[in-house]
Amino acid sequence: MKKVFSFEYTLKDPQGNLIDSSEGHGPLKFLEGSSQIIPGLEKEILLLNEEDSKRINVKAEEAYGPRHEDLVMEVEKTQFPEDQVLNVGDQFQVNDTPDAPIFSIIAITDTKVTLDGNHPLAGIDLSFDVKVTEVRQATEEEIAHGHAH
Ligand code: ZN
Repeated sequence: MKKVFSFEYTLKDPQGNLIDSSEGHGPLKFLEGSSQIIPGLEKEILLLNEEDSKRINVKAEEAYGPRHEDLVMEVEKTQFPEDQVLNVGDQFQVNDTPDAPIFSIIAITDTKVTLDGNHPLAGIDLSFDVKVTEVRQATEEEIAHGHAH
């Protein structure tokens, strides 16, 4: 039987900077084996029981993957519609296919815009402080849908 795990977490980078946390959103839930969370984290949480707390370190390769420098590119500002306001941090998909990478603007000069197609956490080793709040059997509906409810 597949299980559904709920857990609270605090995510930090190797320098100890806070990246993300479940605080204020409530615990995150996932269905075992459904790729709802990164593989390196799921593998470790599956070994835990309700009420267990653990620090789980996940290498970039088992998190959001390595950075690909070829996904960083500089384009002419004239490639964008003239009326489009561009800001560092803006994100957009370059085309309409569902798996097209999401690019972020990382730099803007008078004539050029630098785009980065890497996930913002690519290449970063992640450190999670996890507390499992619930472990239960998945319902048939959850298994049919492939995600936790
Ligand atoms: Zn569903």
